[in-house]
Amino acid sequence: MGGGPRERFGSSGRSQLSETSLAPAGPPRHRLIDGLLGGAVALVAITVAHAALPDFEDIPHLTAPPWAAAPPPAKAAPAPRPPPPPVLIAFAPPLPDGEVGSPFGLRQLPWEDQARLHAGVDMVAPGPELVLASTDGVVTRVGTDPGYGHFVELTHAEGFTTLYGHLDHFAAGIALGVAVKAGRPVGLIGNTGASTGVHLHFEVHDAQDRPLNPEVLLGHSYARAADLPLREARRIPRRVRVAYVSRIPRSKKAEMQAKLADDLAEQAAADAGAADDSSTTTTTSPTTTKRAHGRPRMRIRLSS
Ligand SMILES: [Zn+2]
Repeated sequence: MGGGPRERFGSSGRSQLSETSLAPAGPPRHRLIDGLLGGAVALVAITVAHAALPDFEDIPHLTAPPWAAAPPPAKAAPAPRPPPPPVLIAFAPPLPDGEVGSPFGLRQLPWEDQARLHAGVDMVAPGPELVLASTDGVVTRVGTDPGYGHFVELTHAEGFTTLYGHLDHFAAGIALGVAVKAGRPVGLIGNTGASTGVHLHFEVHDAQDRPLNPEVLLGHSYARAADLPLREARRIPRRVRVAYVSRIPRSKKAEMQAKLADDLAEQAAADAGAADDSSTTTTTSPTTTKRAHGRPRMRIRLSS
């Protein structure tokens, strides 16, 4: 093929075409043939290259490579939220603004000789406040008791029960067998029964009616019964607390008087014994014998 024009215009078909259209004279035939040949070669090359690509639709045993099957880029559509974990039981504080004034454990009241198990917590609030169901339940007891005063008991999942004592009065609709949702009022905080001031006495029991420490459970939710920290909740601290009471309940005044008289008699007997050290006879009463051996043995009884 001719040398000059090819050298000048290179092998680009586009350059040749534009040059052809701009140059009416010269050796157009050669350029045209060259252009046609170049185009044919390029066409053959494209055809071969295309044929070399597998046709995925026609070859069933081949799967599309990643670039062919790539999904469209993710849009800003929000991913579906995972479902919340299932809740078997969730204990919320029955007095949202309350705080524990007297904890779960062994407690000795001023008119008592022996410590008793305080089977719940006493919660105090800054003012008159509604007492709320700690968790979903059904009213299984509602009434008035010398110790608990006006009280409500709810039964929950897995046989757990909660008890709300010393209520001033019951909330509307609270009756035996009524279902109560968590956070719904069961009554108003009060001072009924053997109470030493306006407060809520709150208990939680397991299905075997064993008292549990509410402070271990309050504020937590559990998906399964096995998740409940029952070992910790059942633990009774050994230490005995002497309860502080703002006033002696009327029902306990007689006990308080009897205890004071007993303590005075005991003191008088001890003084008499000290004044008569040479005496070989002992005149200790059963009460002083008990006191002579230190702290009285504890019997665990339930106390409200
Ligand atoms: Zn109490």
